[in-house]
Amino acid sequence: MRSCSAILIFMLATFITGFKRPMTPATIHGQIKQNSGDTSGYIGGLGVFIKIGNRISDHATTDAKGNFTLTVHEMTGERVNLFCCGIGMDTLLLYSMTKFSESDKHCVFYLPAKIKKNIFGKVYCPICHRTDKVYKILYSDNPAYVIRTAKNGDTIYSPIYRGTYQAKTCINAVARYFCDRDKIKF
Ligand SMILES: [Zn+2]
Repeated sequence: MRSCSAILIFMLATFITGFKRPMTPATIHGQIKQNSGDTSGYIGGLGVFIKIGNRISDHATTDAKGNFTLTVHEMTGERVNLFCCGIGMDTLLLYSMTKFSESDKHCVFYLPAKIKKNIFGKVYCPICHRTDKVYKILYSDNPAYVIRTAKNGDTIYSPIYRGTYQAKTCINAVARYFCDRDKIKF
């Protein structure tokens, strides 16, 4: 829910600062499907949105079968990320691109995402394409955290503990990995 209020704030900010003039709007007809290996997540009524840099450029809600339509209004050279969120669910990265191609017009996304691993079994982050800051998310009722002190003396609570990202159990706990470089879950 917190993620969804963040979206509203972003949308409001976008309205206030004004939309960027559309370049060549491209429509994505997407569908979210359950990953056959893990059918714990639900696919209907999810919020899906496109984020370019820090701006939300379009948003939609999936129907009962996980279908949605989003429009990419601009390709500025910045990374275009497609996220989804829902009740009892973290904001999850579905897809990331820097160029829009024809094949992006009809996309199927899996929840949780199909992951790519290197030969050592390390998981690649879909944004930075590196493995060194990717942590497996461990859900529990009492997640552990590490307390650190920043250079300015502030206390930081880090959910990264013993090589895992510690998260509290939630209804739709479909995120499997976290990249600490990009601060995304997937
Ligand atoms: Zn990353």
